[in-house]
Amino acid sequence: MKVLLAASEVHPFAKTGGLADVAGALPRALHALGIEVAVCLPLYPKVRRRSDVREVVAEHVSCPFAGESRPFKLLRTTMPGSPEVPVYLIENPWMFEAEEQLYGTEPGSYGDGHLRFLYFCRALLKIPHATGFFPDVWHLNDWQTALVAPLLRAVHRNDAEVAAAATVTTIHNLAYQGVFPSKDLAHAGVPSWFLQEGKLLEDGLGNLLAGAVRFSDAVTTVSRTYAREILTEEYGNGLEGLLSWRKDLLVGIVNGLDTETWDPSTDPNLPAHYDAGDLAGKRDCRDALLEESDLQPTDGPVFGCVSRLVDQKGLDVVLPVMDALLGRDPSVRLVVLGSGQPDLEDAFRDLESRHPGRVHARLTFDAPFSSLVEAGSDFFLMPSRFEPCGLNQLISMRYGTPPIVRRVGGLRDTVTDGVTGFTFEELNPGALAEAVDRACSLYRDAAGLDRMREAGMETDWSWARSAREYVQVYRDAIDRRADGGHLDAVMQDLPPEPIEVELPELADVPSGYPRDVLTLVPFSPDTLFCFWELGGEASAARIAALEPDARPRIRYRLTLTETRTGEAIHAEIDGTTQQWFAKVAPGGRYRGELHIEAPGQPPQRALDAPEVRLPADVYPEV
Ligand code: ADP
Repeated sequence: MKVLLAASEVHPFAKTGGLADVAGALPRALHALGIEVAVCLPLYPKVRRRSDVREVVAEHVSCPFAGESRPFKLLRTTMPGSPEVPVYLIENPWMFEAEEQLYGTEPGSYGDGHLRFLYFCRALLKIPHATGFFPDVWHLNDWQTALVAPLLRAVHRNDAEVAAAATVTTIHNLAYQGVFPSKDLAHAGVPSWFLQEGKLLEDGLGNLLAGAVRFSDAVTTVSRTYAREILTEEYGNGLEGLLSWRKDLLVGIVNGLDTETWDPSTDPNLPAHYDAGDLAGKRDCRDALLEESDLQPTDGPVFGCVSRLVDQKGLDVVLPVMDALLGRDPSVRLVVLGSGQPDLEDAFRDLESRHPGRVHARLTFDAPFSSLVEAGSDFFLMPSRFEPCGLNQLISMRYGTPPIVRRVGGLRDTVTDGVTGFTFEELNPGALAEAVDRACSLYRDAAGLDRMREAGMETDWSWARSAREYVQVYRDAIDRRADGGHLDAVMQDLPPEPIEVELPELADVPSGYPRDVLTLVPFSPDTLFCFWELGGEASAARIAALEPDARPRIRYRLTLTETRTGEAIHAEIDGTTQQWFAKVAPGGRYRGELHIEAPGQPPQRALDAPEVRLPADVYPEV
């Protein structure tokens, strides 16, 4: 069986979260089971800087995008440590290298993500012919690769060799669905047949993940409990109806852990090593953690936390509970490693200043330090509001650090209360405090604590078990693809003629999706694609503040400035026009500003876009 696993991040090439861990480890476990597996991700700046990315498979693969062909170069390397697993890299510097970040400049809204990742999906579908690797199964992950499933069924249906494949879509976190105005999808070259409810639209907006759920042959998510939870209104993020309709295709498979990377007996980031048979090294890690964190030595419990600082993780509840505990018991220590929402960062900074020498908040992404927190803490805090699977609780158990977790999603499936950690039901300070108190009691019972540590360390968290479950899902997907009945409802009105990309007229900002955003995307060597929306609260307030008779006479002006020469290009635009393909100098660096001008008033800057770089042309036309 041949499987092509596509993801927007793959450890160790590019990582922002748990998806990268899965996409890095599962292929190796599949290979060990005899599956022929290849991996594909975009070539980001960080990937280009790696020394192992050298081999060119194809110089120039044409790829349809936004009404024209935007070719890419296809490179190949292998999974570090697994030379039998090829990794294909899609190189298109305009799409993937104009910025350092993976997901664009606009935090939260993903800025230009729809362009990058729709392009990525288009490019993915070119891989079989470019490489000769024709997968039996496409394993797609999250919204960034979701479009492959519908495109394969409709646009590529007449390419028998490619279209024979089945698709499996894994939802790593339903909170991220790839929601974009349908006109954004149209402009990125999604054929209009898809842009209807029941295909790629969900309540009037393009929803790439919903599209994949409709067109895939199997859908998985990353724990059994989360697979049940997402059928409910509380956890379904609006897709509970669609997922319930597809529940026969939905399977929960808990993530494994990359037990080679995460191993306290070899982890190069630890000052001392240990295993379940001899925990002495863990004590040294604890001392090193306190020292490295500038915390006072203690014989009381050390609580650790490594997390993105976002609402999902429930850390707002940790704050009052730990504040009270630290106030009550001067022997307690807390180390928090994480970055994210400014309000949470401020709150942990504040907690640190209230308990000097006893709380350390390191508000950054720091992989080596995360190992030390996992190994050096006595207990690990993870009270998530929702948690599709969670890796940190697995890492902490493997490192002999019992986790304190809410009984939700993958946390429920992996932590056994009183045996490998502590669990609690409701997310409130009282329930968390009760679990933390139980941990503090166990801390005073050295033999009991060692038993819990060993139980966690001896559990099999490897990928081998999960990989076997994925192989079964692949088989089921292949069978279902052969039968095809599950797609009848979504495919019934597909026109017999090939569906092609049409570039539609510019459309208004749809209501219900208000944002203030200006994004610049290098589109070709001398073209900068600019798009903007003035639908958010800030611009609404600005316009409301104007004299009523001035409002209809507002002018908008978009300025692109070459940041080194200071040379500016201006465009007068009207409020509803949202895209502009600007002719610019190849190799230039541009930032953008959008001003609102009302008669008799000085221009107001409404939006700005940070600098983007136009890479030099590496694809001469052939
Ligand atoms: P999610 O994918 O929702 O962020 P997971 O628990 O599934 O949560 O995976 C998080 C991964 O990211 C883990 O490997 C964790 O160690 C890592 N991580 C999160 N925040 C940080 C940080 N600030 N520094 C280092 N690693 C981090």
